[in-house]
Amino acid sequence: EKIRDSTLDGRVVFSFEFFPPKTEDGVDNLFERMDRMVSHNPSFCDITWGAGGSTADLTLEIANKMQNIVCVESMMHLTCTNMPVEKINHALDTIKSNGIQNVLALRGDPPHGQDKFVQIQGGFACALDLVKHIREKYGDYFGITVAGYPEAHPDVISENGVATLEAYQNDLAYLKRKVDTGADLIITQLFYDTDIFLKFVNDCRQIGIKCPIVPGIMPINNYKGFLRMTGFCKTKIPSEITAALEPIKDNDEAVRSYGIHLGTEMCKKILAHGINTLHLYTLNMEKSALAILKNLGLIDDNKISRSLPWRRPTNIHRV
Ligand code: FAD
Repeated sequence: EKIRDSTLDGRVVFSFEFFPPKTEDGVDNLFERMDRMVSHNPSFCDITWGAGGSTADLTLEIANKMQNIVCVESMMHLTCTNMPVEKINHALDTIKSNGIQNVLALRGDPPHGQDKFVQIQGGFACALDLVKHIREKYGDYFGITVAGYPEAHPDVISENGVATLEAYQNDLAYLKRKVDTGADLIITQLFYDTDIFLKFVNDCRQIGIKCPIVPGIMPINNYKGFLRMTGFCKTKIPSEITAALEPIKDNDEAVRSYGIHLGTEMCKKILAHGINTLHLYTLNMEKSALAILKNLGLIDDNKISRSLPWRRPTNIHRV
């Protein structure tokens, strides 16, 4: 099933993003956690593609197991960084043969140590090229998701933390080209100013982007991680968030509960604006994501909503 379809039936739905762990134990732990989280019936789960293609094999393997052993609708991220077209096709053929119908098509960041994204010989220059390629080679088989940036892509955000209006509009126009070329869903970069997200959705609609736009929500789990992520993505941090975090920044438990409170309020506001999809960047942790969904009344421990034959994987070890 294409995940776009689950966003269209009017129900409030949610989804979880995971990344490939570094160790085998980490992978086993992830599957155990995923198994618990999936029992709450997310509409899909997705697995990232390591920076620079560093986790290609593991990402493929995890995507396959998510789809066929954990039995949740799965989406694999795929980037163009260091990927000649043969490797791209190998990845797509592999997930297709495993019954996965959803891919998040990305350009990717430059490889470690490089400032600028450089197109490799026989590879693609941007996500638009990848979307085009997937549609040309695989027709309608895949649901294609692309990334959207409510504050514009960090490459065009300047020293003062904002993109010029022109750069923002170029970014939007480029996003529209990705959709017109075949993408059918947008997931956004993380943000902490909900108004920026709501304005972005509005701006997308104004220029004729009609597909679902799913907000990417990253619960604040710890202060250092929050600063690292928002620094990397050049995310605007509203002053009330800074003020709330400053006095508790050394107390991990307090930061996490604030993150849950904030995430809940952000989601409430988004849902109140008629957007009925929430995508949670879990960072492979379950506590905050589940707490937010519980606060919103979307999940209930006493009512594990997934019906059998959902089965616990018995052989989750890596092949
Ligand atoms: P693109 O859509 O190609 O755009 C990047 C920028 O270039 C934009 O500013 C765009 O306007 C501009 N641009 C590019 N080409 C053109 C053109 N032809 N004409 C005009 N403007 C152009 N990274 C990973 O390595 N692995 C992941 O799994 C991963 N998952 C992500 C998931 C989400 C939801 C998001 C939001 C990001 C993710 N990223 C991931 C990060 C992403 O790879 C980086 O943000 C990367 O720098 C840009 O990728 P993109 O697909 O948005 O690029």
